[in-house]
Amino acid sequence: MVESRYYGQYGGSYLPEILVSTFDQLVTAFKEAKNDPAFWEEYEQIMSSYSCRPTPLTFAGNLTEYFGGARIYIKREDLNHTGAHKANNVMGQGLLVKRMGKKRVIAETGAGQHGVATATMAAKFGFKCTIYMGEVDIARQRPNVFWMERLGAEVVPVTDGTRILKDAINEAFRDWVTNMDDTHYVLGTACGPHPYPEMVSYFQSIIGREAKKQIIKSEGKLPERIYACVGGGSNALGIFSSFLDDSVELVGVEAGGDGLNTGRHAARLASKDGTVGIAQGFKTYFLQNSDGQMQETHSVAAGLDYVGVSPILSLLKEEGRVRFESATDREVLDALSLTLKKEGLVPALESAHAFAQAFKEVPNLSRDDIILINQSGRGDKDIFTIADAFKDPDWQKFIQQKAEEYRA
Ligand SMILES: *Cc1c(COP(=O)(O)O)cnc(C)c1O
Repeated sequence: MVESRYYGQYGGSYLPEILVSTFDQLVTAFKEAKNDPAFWEEYEQIMSSYSCRPTPLTFAGNLTEYFGGARIYIKREDLNHTGAHKANNVMGQGLLVKRMGKKRVIAETGAGQHGVATATMAAKFGFKCTIYMGEVDIARQRPNVFWMERLGAEVVPVTDGTRILKDAINEAFRDWVTNMDDTHYVLGTACGPHPYPEMVSYFQSIIGREAKKQIIKSEGKLPERIYACVGGGSNALGIFSSFLDDSVELVGVEAGGDGLNTGRHAARLASKDGTVGIAQGFKTYFLQNSDGQMQETHSVAAGLDYVGVSPILSLLKEEGRVRFESATDREVLDALSLTLKKEGLVPALESAHAFAQAFKEVPNLSRDDIILINQSGRGDKDIFTIADAFKDPDWQKFIQQKAEEYRA
């Protein structure tokens, strides 16, 4: 019997019989590592020497002045190696793989960010690495595919279903079933069967632990509100985790796409369109139609369009502990422009959702209040999408010229 864990009615571990012993092994290894103080020390050590931790907390003085409301602080997960909080999770799981004595890692990836992070970790630790990626995503995310391959990973195109992230997850599980002995599956967010939601948020909790110390050091008190974007939920849980027992309002921001009333969005918890179901080994809110068919999601931010969400966040919503909002593509691009011009910071399109929601609320807060925004990643990776969205004519000319060079 595999050990399971529920968060209220959400979570669990709905697995094919053949994977039960592998999950048992993982649950045990994770438990032992968590109870071993030397493990977290080793984790912090590698994160500081390899991934710039602790990441700074930046006071956004110009944005604060511009809005005239609460004082705005930004937690800089964009400064991690590979450009996002994903490094926290993959490096943690990498150390666990070493402890388990396995030699190969596999992962799913949608936008490619988790794939690049996993391929990077595999190169550093000397593991063989296979990344499953939907054919549609491979076509959309060529720069990330390029880097995964240069890093030594094999990128396997997934041709099943709608050929996107959820199909890549299914394919990764299929691989695992046939290669359990030497292979670990590095899941990218706080979703999936137990122990992934707990394990991924454990590694991401480094964000909140640092942020809490940092804000107390600079302001002598806790923030009124914390904003984080929500894809699968790992960066949000990472920063929220240290503040759950404090009187700090926690705000999760989902992808509003074209707007909640258009059906073209990825808001599982902030809209009325999400329903509870069981898929991909766990129970949570999914965007699905009445037959339980998964719906297509839409967002300008590729990293936010997953059909499910962390079971831990589903419970925190039910308990009213986290408030869920959404920001539309348009609001996100405006927030991104403003942050670039006022602070010289380039949030990822995913992170810009948290900024957009914070900007809607910050003018109504008092000047004595403090808010904290999690900048989960950097936006340089989004240059193709952002340049298209801003219809930059010189950029279009550059791309056309490149295309002509290749044709010649
Ligand atoms: C992947 C990604 C996300 C979404 O994942 P979570 O698990 O919800 O954190 C958010 N921001 C960035 C920069 C990402 O790369």
